[in-house]
Formats: sequence, structure tokens, C-alpha cells
Amino acid sequence: MIKITESCTGCFACVSICPLQSISLQVNEFGELHPMIDQTKCVDCGMCTKVCPTNSPVRGVKPEAVYAAYSKNLEIYKQSTSGGISMEIAKVILSNGGIVYGTGMDGVSANIIRVDSEKDLCLIQGSKYVQSHMNDAMQHIKKDLEAGKKVVFFGVPCQVAGVRNFFKKSVEGLYLIDILCHGAPSRDCLLQGISLETEKQVVNVKFRENTKYCLSLTTSSGNVIKVPYRRSYWFNGFVEGYIMREACYSCGYAKTERIGDISLGDFWGLNIEKTALKHPYGINLVLVNTPMGRALWELIQKNVLFERHELAEAIPYNHSLEHPLSKPNEYNIFRKMYSEFGGAYAIQNAFRKKTRYIRIRRWLAKHEALSLVVMKIPKISNKLKDYPD
Ligand SMILES: Cc1cc2nc3c(=O)[nH]c(=O)nc-3n(C[C@H](O)[C@H](O)[C@H](O)COP(=O)(O)OP(=O)(O)OC[C@H]3O[C@@H](n4cnc5c(N)ncnc54)[C@H](O)[C@@H]3O)c2cc1C
Ligand code: SF4
Ligand code: SF4
Ligand code: SF4
Repeated sequence: MIKITESCTGCFACVSICPLQSISLQVNEFGELHPMIDQTKCVDCGMCTKVCPTNSPVRGVKPEAVYAAYSKNLEIYKQSTSGGISMEIAKVILSNGGIVYGTGMDGVSANIIRVDSEKDLCLIQGSKYVQSHMNDAMQHIKKDLEAGKKVVFFGVPCQVAGVRNFFKKSVEGLYLIDILCHGAPSRDCLLQGISLETEKQVVNVKFRENTKYCLSLTTSSGNVIKVPYRRSYWFNGFVEGYIMREACYSCGYAKTERIGDISLGDFWGLNIEKTALKHPYGINLVLVNTPMGRALWELIQKNVLFERHELAEAIPYNHSLEHPLSKPNEYNIFRKMYSEFGGAYAIQNAFRKKTRYIRIRRWLAKHEALSLVVMKIPKISNKLKDYPD
């Protein structure tokens, strides 16, 4: 039977493979989804151990080609997080009669959803900075492949690893795109973070305001509460990487060897002297890793602007190509507080040094006149701004 450790990523592969439906994922005291096995149903067949990417890791490959790229379609480019290459890949699969799986929001919950028409692609566009749940997506992918359809799956690498192991090896017609990932907080952690902003019921959450990180919460009465990331305890914790799921700090997929057919990320640090591409709304780093990835990339090339680059240009600005986040010193305190006093308390109080400026920014936001005076003091104004220079 499967060995469940702190490295469990909540990928749903074990749940999806168990022939007796003996496994369910349940939220533990730290707000994270972890498998629970119903021993009375389990027949010790070992399938869950074989499929689990933390028990049976997926081996990655070095990218065969590296590009900087963005969509020629201005609407797609502007609405996407980086350069809209995800949407271009999704569109080409749909136009060949295929199906797209990616992360959409259902209220405040992120889930993998199935998309079969171009008009619904906007649902999966954009990064949702929270763990998305696979639910029964692997079963649906299986059915689509059995029906002879092409399928593209977009997910963070631990999800892609789960899908790869579920289908045992590379399957014709199944394209896997791994999204570079520095970590994801749990769904419960997001809910706790939201509760620090409003007591009202929140029916929708967004993570960006144009190109800026901003927690945008729509309440049931239709009001929208906008909290810039450095004023939100939760969002600051995401950006600075201290409130992630435990497994993210030992992520086995934060490295140069990739497990998707294509990997997509932000091409941070793209040296303007080394590119002829003007990229006002961001730019994708595209890693083409396998022959299937190459075939897919060739299909979208006419719809994108791109340039060949070297991986060495991207690595210094993107730790997820080399190593996982370092676990913060206060992480154990965070977990202790989470289980004893709840997530909202832990997010606010476990990282005193990191959160002291958030406290001041929140206070200044309520005292506008004083804020105008304080922001004139050069030594501290950048520290207290909602967005640093
Ligand atoms: C939690 C998280 C952490 C990230 N960390 C990094 C990083 O450290 N470095 C880096 O270069 N890029 C990171 N990214 C990726 C980056 O934000 C862009 O998504 C990526 O560059 C693709 O951009 P795009 O314009 O092609 O597509 P986008 O419009 O961003 O769409 C991207 C795809 O991401 C998928 N997606 C959205 N949210 C989630 C989610 N929660 N879980 C799984 N899949 C999701 C959607 O299905 C969609 O297909 C991260 C993304 C997420 C969700
Ligand atoms: S060993 Fe087999 S029956 Fe038992 S939980 Fe795992 S997959 Fe299910
Ligand atoms: S990593 Fe995935 S397969 Fe392994 S125990 Fe966790 S949810 Fe199950
Ligand atoms: S850092 Fe690794 S374990 Fe964490 S969400 Fe991203 S891919 Fe999964």
C-alpha cells in the first residue's frame, strides 16, 4: 500500500487509479489535501504505490530547444499571464477536434476543467496562484483518448507527473504541458487569506490587475475588494514563497530536466540587448522537450513571434529550473499555528519579520493623509509602497 509522506503533492493519481475506490483526499490540520485509505476496502494490489510520483518519480529530459515567444493575437497576449503560448497550444488542439484540460476557477476554488470549445478557453487562461484540484480529470482524459481524441493537459509539474504515471508512458495523442512553478498554497490557505480581507461571502477571486499581482475579491453583493499584493498577508506569502504546501519545499520537478512535452514559464531577465522582440505585456519561456512537444510547437509557430535562446539565460532568474524554494525558518511555527489557531492566524503571525511592513501598509491605506506624508520619506517609501519600484 502507498507510503504517504510530507512530499505528497495531492496530485490525485492514487485516487484515480485505485480499482476499489479505497482512497479519498481529505484536508489535514495544515489545510492540505492528503490521501486517506479505507483499509476495509484495500486489497493491497500496489497500484497506488506504482502510480504515485513521490513513490515512483517521473524522470525528466533536458530541453532540446529554448525559445522566447508570445502570441501574435493581441487580445490573447494581453489577457494571458506571460505571452499567451498556452492559449495558442490550446487553440490548435481544439481546431484538430481535440480536448483541452486546464485550471479554471469555480468561485474561490481552482479545479482542472475540460474544455471542448474555443469560447470557453478564457476559463483556463491566466495563472491561479493556488493549488488546483484534479478531481476526476484523469478518468475523463482516459475516456477522451479512448474515443480517439487528441488531448492537451496543462498543469504544474507535480500534476503532469501524476498524469504521466497514470498513463504509464507516453501516449499518442496526449500532450502534456508543464507550467513552471515556484509553489502553490492550498485551497484552504487561500480561503483563510481571503477571510483576512472580508467577512462577506466571496464568490469570485482574481489574482491580477493588468500585469500587477492584486487580490481581487467579488462579494455576493457584487462589490469588488482589491488588495495589492504587498498589502495582502496571503498574497505576499505566495509571492515571497513562505506559505506554500509543504511538498513544494522539496519539489522533485524544480529542475532543468522537464517532464512535460513542452514547459512554459515567464522569460524573466530576458536581456533586452539579446532580443529583437518587443514584449510590452510579458513573454513566455518555451522549452521544447520531446518529439511530441516539437510537433506541437511546429503547429503553432505561424501564430507566434519567437526567437531561439539559451537555457542559461533563463536559469538565474527562475529558481524553479534549478531547485525548489528554500523552506523558511519560521515554517514549522506556521504549521503549528495553523493546526492550533487556524490558517488566518498563522498567515498573519508566523512570519513576524516578513509581515511587519504589511501591517504598516494596511494601516496607512486606512489613513490616507498620513500616508501622503510618510511616502515622502525616501528611505522608507519603497518599503511601504503597495508595489516596489
Ligand atoms: C502556482 C503557479 C506558480 C508559478 N510559478 C512560476 C515560476 O516560478 N516561474 C515561471 O516562470 N512561471 C511560473 N508560473 C507560470 C506563469 O505564471 C504562466 O502561467 C506561464 O508562464 C504560462 O503563461 P501563458 O501566458 O502561456 O498562459 P496563462 O494565461 O498564464 O495560462 C497558463 C496555463 O496555466 C494553467 N494554470 C493556471 N493556474 C494553474 C494552477 N493553479 N495550477 C495548475 N495550472 C494552472 C492554466 O490551465 C493555463 O492553461 C506559475 C504559475 C502558477 C499557476
Ligand atoms: S493498494 Fe490497491 S486497493 Fe489498496 S489503496 Fe492502493 S490501489 Fe487501492
Ligand atoms: S503524491 Fe499523488 S499519488 Fe502520491 S500519495 Fe499524494 S496524491 Fe497520491
Ligand atoms: S512547487 Fe512542485 S510540488 Fe509545489 S505545486 Fe509546484 S510543481 Fe507541485
